[in-house]
Amino acid sequence: MNTITRRDALKSAGILTAGFFLSTSITRALAQAAAPAPTGPHKLPALPYGFDALEPHFDAKTMEIHHDKHHAAYVTNLNKALADYPDLQKLSVEELIKDLDKVPEKIRTAVRNQGGGHFNHSLFWQCLRKDSDPLSDGPLAEAMGELFENKEEGERIFLEKSLSVFGSGWVWISLTKDKKLQLETTPNQDSPLMFGRQPLIGLDVWEHAYYLKYQNRRADYVKAFYNLVNWDFVSKRYEKLTA
Ligand code: MN
Repeated sequence: MNTITRRDALKSAGILTAGFFLSTSITRALAQAAAPAPTGPHKLPALPYGFDALEPHFDAKTMEIHHDKHHAAYVTNLNKALADYPDLQKLSVEELIKDLDKVPEKIRTAVRNQGGGHFNHSLFWQCLRKDSDPLSDGPLAEAMGELFENKEEGERIFLEKSLSVFGSGWVWISLTKDKKLQLETTPNQDSPLMFGRQPLIGLDVWEHAYYLKYQNRRADYVKAFYNLVNWDFVSKRYEKLTA
């Protein structure tokens, strides 16, 4: 007699195999959910507004993934890189990436990428707000006038610069050592801080910053950014850095 056990029947139907993979992936997901929050000196700063605050220019889903996943990963991985270096854990992210030569070679690339990512995004969120305010007269407006003929020319040149970034990177208006404004780009998560300049305002042009809404249309994303600049924040930052 050809007896087929329930187990054999299930096996031949592929159900046990499927069940095995299903339960493994559920177990793994639960383990991830239950994992303790990454410990370390660096923390993910809360967004200073809701995920949907910048709609329709930057959509809520992108903001959520960008902050809760991408930025969070930079923070987690920076803490991981610093795990065996208690002295470096005492430094701020700015101090760390300003002087990468002081970071042991073994973790230098990690600190450059993850620390840069953490610093750049922390600044980026603050440079944005719902309904951009106009840049009012004052020291920053004057300095911007030396960099660009007028607002329209500034936006055109900034857009051009944004489109010139091949692959992933950032566009910045930075302060040079002699406190002059400079338009520049950096690749990956490099920050002007690594080159002796203070970033004043930055735009993330990694695809993860815009792909969900704009796909390959980086120019549309840059133009959307013009509606979101927090000039009040940038002006105050300029005044602080030039004081
Ligand atoms: Mn980003």
